[in-house]
Amino acid sequence: MSLTIPENVQRTLDSLAVKYIKGHYVEDGAAALEIIKPYLQTGVTVASGNSLTLRQTGIFDFLASEGHPAQFVNQFVPGLPFEENRRLKKLGLTSDVYLSSANAVTEDGKLCFLDGGGNRVAAILFGPEKVFIVAGQNKIVKNEKAAWDRIQHYVSPQTAVQLGRKLPCAEDGKCHNCDNPARFCRDYVTVNGQLEREKDRVEVILIAQELGI
Ligand code: SF4
Repeated sequence: MSLTIPENVQRTLDSLAVKYIKGHYVEDGAAALEIIKPYLQTGVTVASGNSLTLRQTGIFDFLASEGHPAQFVNQFVPGLPFEENRRLKKLGLTSDVYLSSANAVTEDGKLCFLDGGGNRVAAILFGPEKVFIVAGQNKIVKNEKAAWDRIQHYVSPQTAVQLGRKLPCAEDGKCHNCDNPARFCRDYVTVNGQLEREKDRVEVILIAQELGI
C-alpha cells in the first residue's frame, strides 16, 4: 500500500533536496530501518545521539543487537564511568555512520538541534560519512522561527521533565532562559543543507507518526 504524502511533508522533502539532503517519508520505524540497514556492514562503525525517537522506533535496540555486522559505539551502556563515556563520544565523532533525530525540521529544509554536551551536533556537522536523521512528522514546522519556538517552549521544558531536573521550565512548562547550573540546553544548531560535494551525506527519514518530543 503506497503512502500518501501530506503537503507539508512534500514541501519539506523538496526543500531538503535543493539543499543536497536526501529525504524519505515512510510509514514506521521498521521501514526507516530498511533504509539504514544496508549501511551497517562488516568493518563499519556506527554511533548515535541520545534519541527518544530512535528508541521508540526500535532502531536503537537494533543498533545495540547482534542483528547486523557493524560495530556499534554505544555510549549509553548504564553505569559507564565518565572517562569511558567521553572516549566513546569521541569515537562516535569519527564513526562511519551516525544516527540521530532532530528537534525540528522546517518546511524550507533546515534541521534544528538543541544539544547539551555538543557531541551529537558535532557528529552531524562533520566526521561520519553518512548521517541519518530520523524524525516523526510531528517535528515538521513552517520555518526556523517556528522551529526555535517549538524547541524553546516545548522540547526543552518536556526534556527537563523527562530528565527529572529541578529547573524552572520543568515547573511551569515555559523557558525562562535560566542560568541554572542544571541547564542542559547549551548548544543551538541549525543545519541549512550540505555542500554540493557532500550531497546526500545526510539523509532525513520522516516517519508518518508522532514520535519523540
Ligand atoms: S534555559 Fe533554563 S528554563 Fe529554559 S529550557 Fe533551558 S533549562 Fe529550561
